Amino acid sequence: MDAYTDSLERLISALGKLPGIGRRSAERIAFYLLDTDRDEADALAQAVHDVKTKVGHCTQCGGLAEGETCALCANPRRDRSRLCVVEKPKDVLRIEATGGYSGLYHVLGGLISPADGTGPETLDLARLRRRVDEGEVEEVVLALSPTADGDGTTLCVAEHLKGAGVRVTRLARGLPTGASLEYANPGMLADALRDRQDLGS
Ligand SMILES: [Zn+2]
Repeated sequence: MDAYTDSLERLISALGKLPGIGRRSAERIAFYLLDTDRDEADALAQAVHDVKTKVGHCTQCGGLAEGETCALCANPRRDRSRLCVVEKPKDVLRIEATGGYSGLYHVLGGLISPADGTGPETLDLARLRRRVDEGEVEEVVLALSPTADGDGTTLCVAEHLKGAGVRVTRLARGLPTGASLEYANPGMLADALRDRQDLGS
């Protein structure tokens, strides 16, 4: 748009690509950044740069980490006898927000989805099994979304852990069926975690 300088237009169009930000909001944020002091704008630019260059995946749990190991895996106070299996790094935040879990995590990085042609081989279940076999794990809590793909994946992972000599549980029913774990409210998620159901051992 000719009314804006090239740099301003570039910022507006970049902001407008963010989820939930339309053109009008993008303009408002861009003008805010234009008017704000230099340090605040630089801090934002640096933070964006840092998440893209420094944040990777924990070599142990697959969650987000800066460096080899995430803060949860590195924390000696976490209960190493429990492993909570989730789909995405974001789900770790959801479970942590309940305040009702003190064990470690295993992030699958996806779900088995027959409709999308995604099979069990994409989830590296062998890595999960290795962690269970090597470690001090006594219980694996399957905390996947109560969707068709989440339920299918839960059964597949449980099957994969058969004979590993650990208790396998899943979140209690009660979370809204079909909804992603991401949108579960912390209280309901805490209940589902507390009332988890045995899938066998
Ligand atoms: Zn980790």
